[in-house]
Amino acid sequence: MQSIKTKLKVNNKQKTLLAKHAGVARHAYNWGLAACIAEYQSTKKRLSAITLHKRLVREVKSQNPWYYEVSKCAPQQALRNLERAFKNFFTIPKRGFPKFKKKGKKDSFYLEGSIKILKGNYIKLPRIGIVKTYEILPSVSIKNVTISKRANNWYISFKYNYQPIPTAKERDIIGVDVGINALATCSDGTKFANVKAYKQGKKRLTLDQRRVNKKELGFLRNATQTKNRAKAIKKLAKLHKKISDIRADALHKLTTWASFEPQHHSHRRFECKWNAQKAVRPRDDVSSLAERAPRHHKLASAIADCGFYEFKRQLIYNCEWYGSELVIADRFYPSSQICSHCGHQQKMPLNVRTYDCSNCGFQSDRDFNAAVNLENYVNK
Ligand SMILES: [Zn+2]
Repeated sequence: MQSIKTKLKVNNKQKTLLAKHAGVARHAYNWGLAACIAEYQSTKKRLSAITLHKRLVREVKSQNPWYYEVSKCAPQQALRNLERAFKNFFTIPKRGFPKFKKKGKKDSFYLEGSIKILKGNYIKLPRIGIVKTYEILPSVSIKNVTISKRANNWYISFKYNYQPIPTAKERDIIGVDVGINALATCSDGTKFANVKAYKQGKKRLTLDQRRVNKKELGFLRNATQTKNRAKAIKKLAKLHKKISDIRADALHKLTTWASFEPQHHSHRRFECKWNAQKAVRPRDDVSSLAERAPRHHKLASAIADCGFYEFKRQLIYNCEWYGSELVIADRFYPSSQICSHCGHQQKMPLNVRTYDCSNCGFQSDRDFNAAVNLENYVNK
């Protein structure tokens, strides 16, 4: 069994509905806990989840009509969880007595029934409807899911039977150089260009950021000015979101291709040295932005959604999924400096785009040379 947990892209209506479900689950749990305590005090007996559920339907549901607005699985599973919490308390040493749940702390609920994964990154849930996920989901059938909230974001998690998809391979190993000019260069000659829209967006971003800063610098703060600043910030946030979407899409295409391409391979190797250097950029953006607008958590997380940590995580996930082995080169491995033809090593400043070997005269595109070196990495 494999398990997956991924972030949900929810609209306001869905957000409310999810919060309602979590609220009912918490209410049922807390009611059940209070009922168990009272029962134990008067009769020294323990209540099972089934008994509790029967009482809940009779005593609580009729009094609280909002219970009917959510799936009945949510309170039912909450009571099962409570039963387990008691069981653990009695059988596992040092396990504490079940605690009352607080709103906003580990909000979660459970759903089962007609759940279906549609078109990769959509999932149909009972009572909630169709929800989009940030990640492509495996096309498997699932019986139940847990939905939880962490720091204002909703996540879905479930278990499924894992069977790697066997792929015909034409190539055992492929080297991939993650670069600055191109998003990635592969040792079979494939190049993934940096997305143009991303670059353009970045330019706009600088402009919009400047606009925000300018409004911040105004000496005479008045209501209109603050309003304009808020507007500029909103515009900036929108742009950030757009850029992050473009980037996420590009990364997704690359990582899927890299870990699985029917005509190719089954081994893929990635160089993360440039990553480490390149990672400085997106991370810088995030932190400087966070400093400038500390109250805009949403803004910061929209950028944090992408970037190279996400890239690596997706890569690991996809390779696992397609049964490819991922080798990440040591970050000190000088893939750009070595001649892929004779093994000679020479300094390669960042602005030099062509590898021109001073030993054997071999000439090659800088990134392609690095990709070939990475393909040969394991043999060393
Ligand atoms: Zn050479």
